[in-house]
Amino acid sequence: MDSTGLVEEKKLCRNCNEEGTKVKTITVKHMVIGSLLPTVTDADYYLCTNGKCDIAYYSSESDLQIKKEQVKVPIWFKEDANPKYICYCNRVTEAHIINAVRNEGAKNMKDIIKLTSAMKNGKCEVNHPTGKCCSPIIQEVINNALGI
Ligand SMILES: [Zn+2]
Repeated sequence: MDSTGLVEEKKLCRNCNEEGTKVKTITVKHMVIGSLLPTVTDADYYLCTNGKCDIAYYSSESDLQIKKEQVKVPIWFKEDANPKYICYCNRVTEAHIINAVRNEGAKNMKDIIKLTSAMKNGKCEVNHPTGKCCSPIIQEVINNALGI
């Protein structure tokens, strides 16, 4: 570690200069299209969380940048993601959740799980672009749909 700030800078997406969120290598390996797989080495990877940026993942240790088109699934917060999956394990979209709240009376996470099968048999580490459980994002969509 040094005190020049270089370590911090490496966490920034080289395309948009915004700070990404760290993801596991195993997640990146499952997300990229097959032809890119050999380029994904065991390094530190970040997911660019800027919706307007075309980069999905980048490495802080190499020049590797993976574009959103080089990822097998649309990344839900990227501008033109279609469909917008929220629960990737069960392919539940933002529209499914909003519909369940507005038209099927869902009020909370339990209702959504029952109505959409979200979060069933989750393997988030290899199915979700962040590698993490989608439950906080589901909650956010519920809140928005309820107007909270
Ligand atoms: Zn970016």
